[in-house]
Amino acid sequence: MAKQQAKRQRTRKAMILVSFLLFPITLNYISPYIIIDGASLGIINGSFIVFVLLFLSSLFLGRLWCAWLCPTGGLQVACFAINAKPAHGGRFDWIKWGIWIPWVSIIVIMAISAGGYQAVNFFHLTDSGISLDQPFVYPSYYTVVGMFLILSLTTGKRGGCHYICWMAPFMIIGRKTRNLVKWPALRLVADKDKCKDCKSCTENCPMSLDVNGRVQRGEMENSECILCGSCIDVCPESAITYSFSAG
Ligand code: SF4
Ligand code: SF4
Repeated sequence: MAKQQAKRQRTRKAMILVSFLLFPITLNYISPYIIIDGASLGIINGSFIVFVLLFLSSLFLGRLWCAWLCPTGGLQVACFAINAKPAHGGRFDWIKWGIWIPWVSIIVIMAISAGGYQAVNFFHLTDSGISLDQPFVYPSYYTVVGMFLILSLTTGKRGGCHYICWMAPFMIIGRKTRNLVKWPALRLVADKDKCKDCKSCTENCPMSLDVNGRVQRGEMENSECILCGSCIDVCPESAITYSFSAG
């Protein structure tokens, strides 16, 4: 890996690890529970706003959040030191939709029951700005951390992203919307002729994707790709690159 590319991956990993260390502060802003509480009172809260921003960012940047900023992503990257086996995504990735669809339905029902959204309070149930400011919040924190930790350690790399993440579907929907219209967005582009089929890209993909197979087939788009750039940075032939373009 060239120096500059190694630095990019070190920087990326450092950023999501710091994000995980800050998770006791930021939990409420991506909380799957507080958005329900806010909806029941007609309040647009912090996590509502963050989820909307994740959706909007995915229209141009796909799941870049997952690679560079997500706190649970940081936790899972730390787990690679213990279990770096590929996750068997693909077959079971649908599980997160089985969580997401009922959860979003509950939010919608609560908001309708409250007569719609009437107020915005980014700090709803987060008055101090720090999520873990009261002992009663600790169980939520340890439940979220525990779920991602157990899945990563038992099912392989970023198992939590594949199976239970409630944020990923917002970005997958955004990405698929973009792919229908094909406006310019960040994406991977590969030159099949440069590829020597060494499979380094596949071995280093944190989302356990068959990257070299996709290079060979000329199909780089995948809803589980988080655009982390690991495949770009490990490829000895520079066969894969980032591109901000239509297509
Ligand atoms: S790392 Fe590069 S050369 Fe090796 S299989 Fe992947 S795309 Fe091909
Ligand atoms: S395909 Fe490449 S950019 Fe996408 S998740 Fe895998 S390593 Fe990262």
